[in-house]
Amino acid sequence: MGAILLKNIVAEGVVSDVLLDGGLIGRIVPAGEQISLPEEVEVVECEGKTLMPGLINMHTHAGMALMRGVGEDIPFHEWIDRIWVLEKNLDEEYVYYATKVACLEMIKTGTTTFNDQYWYMPMAYKAASELGLRAALSYVFLDKNDPEESERQKVQALQMYEASREWADTAQLVISIHAIYSVREPMILWAADFARQRGLKIHIHVSETEKEVADCMAQHGGMSPVEYLDSLGILGPDVIAAHTLWLSDKDIEILAKRGVTCVHNVNSNLKLASGYRFRYNELRDAGANVCLGTDGCASSNNLDMLETMKTSAIVQKAWRNDPAAMPLNELIAMATSNAAGALGLNAGKIEEGALADLLIIDTDNHNFLSPGTFEANLVYSAHSDCVDSVICNGRFIMRNRVVPGEKEVLAQARRVLNRIG
Ligand SMILES: [Zn+2]
Repeated sequence: MGAILLKNIVAEGVVSDVLLDGGLIGRIVPAGEQISLPEEVEVVECEGKTLMPGLINMHTHAGMALMRGVGEDIPFHEWIDRIWVLEKNLDEEYVYYATKVACLEMIKTGTTTFNDQYWYMPMAYKAASELGLRAALSYVFLDKNDPEESERQKVQALQMYEASREWADTAQLVISIHAIYSVREPMILWAADFARQRGLKIHIHVSETEKEVADCMAQHGGMSPVEYLDSLGILGPDVIAAHTLWLSDKDIEILAKRGVTCVHNVNSNLKLASGYRFRYNELRDAGANVCLGTDGCASSNNLDMLETMKTSAIVQKAWRNDPAAMPLNELIAMATSNAAGALGLNAGKIEEGALADLLIIDTDNHNFLSPGTFEANLVYSAHSDCVDSVICNGRFIMRNRVVPGEKEVLAQARRVLNRIG
């Protein structure tokens, strides 16, 4: 892998030269300072541009990228039933191209890593690695209370685990337990044990809707989903809990005590009318790790993390009647370093030795022409087309907004588009 020298780029507010080597950030020095360069190095002039860590989408279903708009204006339980009907017709080729479209969109909107939960996971691995993205990819347990299906999934999980041992280091296998309402208790226990014996993270939807919480309390002696999962010994620092929207004070205390990562998916929650009072301040103050996600395109319709950041902050400010409810530095951390920590990656920061997963932001436009900070302009003023170039694992995966092979991906996706309709 060739080294890259980003010349005259603003890094942490200072015009710098940044050397990327071996997939890592090698050196960061003030622009023009002499540094020893590797023999083969590509020098890229970046005047007028700013370097920032790549964004990390902590909850998505990339294979749903061709399901935009399939369930508009209906309640969550009708929406999920509709999705499950469509998903009966999925095949490998469909998921492969749908994930490629998702990867394309993520790259163009500044995401360098995504935490995914979908079917035909080897296809997601193929798609993500071909486009150069880093990914946490799930084997998904979802037995819909069918013991025969549980047995089939146990066998398949083991096969997927064996296959994942051959993966490049840009991908990690995660075990997903879809949700407490879609997976039987013995399966939940088995899946968590399977993950922990192998040091894999666990990804699960938790307390997404008010109905999920009410149903759980009725079924499990008054316990909320968080209390129920804790009673099973499932919660720990290796757990990534998507949504965590309907939380009691006790739930928050448990999530923080167990070191669970909570992923806020504001656009999906708003659009499915699941709720909007995500208790960010309480989770943060209790010490929980909070990150951001888009959810899949069937609910949030896009995978744009900058849009997610802006909506998260303005909704939080509005419902709490507090403009300081989600400060910019915390918002950026949620989309970068908090997420990297949850996935065990030395990323999400501009630091020598960290993974070179980076964005080059074009600030030479009206959105950034202000005395405001880069972060303020990025989140509240700009759109994701300010992402000029994307580097993942030390190599360009988008340059000057061009992703190699984009047209071909769209053409192939168009071909499989109606397979599920
Ligand atoms: Zn989801």
